[in-house]
Amino acid sequence: MSFKVAIIGRPNVGKSTLFNRLAGRKLALVDDTPGVTRDRRVHAGKLYDLRFDVIDTAGLEDAAASSLEGRMRAQTEAAIDEADLVIFIMDARAGIMPDDRTFADVVRRTGKPVVLAANKSESRSSEGGAIEAWELGLGEPIPISAEHGQGMADLRHAIVEAL
Ligand code: GDP
Ligand code: MG
Repeated sequence: MSFKVAIIGRPNVGKSTLFNRLAGRKLALVDDTPGVTRDRRVHAGKLYDLRFDVIDTAGLEDAAASSLEGRMRAQTEAAIDEADLVIFIMDARAGIMPDDRTFADVVRRTGKPVVLAANKSESRSSEGGAIEAWELGLGEPIPISAEHGQGMADLRHAIVEAL
């Protein structure tokens, strides 16, 4: 089976880190500066036996759109459009932020299958944030750590169930 996965979420939640892990190489720029990945990047991805194309996106803050943010929004919506499935990432350390709800609404409106990943869950202090993620209305949050590779089997299971 061949399919396309778009990684969506507000800046700094760990989209590029997950992209790099799935793509198996250091491609996307990971930075502490929100929204630093400005170009949409597509690469062959793999999660155990699953093979797919993975699309990294810049994400967009819900602030009044500058032209850069406008481009990032268009790029995000194009990625969702192109994808068979969306991995929606939130930051379980931070909990739900207003921008997460905005992004979740955009994803929900497309009707695309979505897997909700509660990233940065390598520490117990993230449990509350992961539970809060239920509020996004995107189904069960899957705790993962994109940086440390935790929760990848659960992520695989959720993807197969959602497709
Ligand atoms: P993006 O803006 O959504 O693409 O986020 P990035 O992938 O650039 O990551 C933003 C920041 O979060 C970087 O400092 C990453 O190192 C960090 N980060 C990403 N994944 C994890 C994780 O699983 N745990 C922790 N603690 N930090 C992470
Ligand atoms: Mg990025």
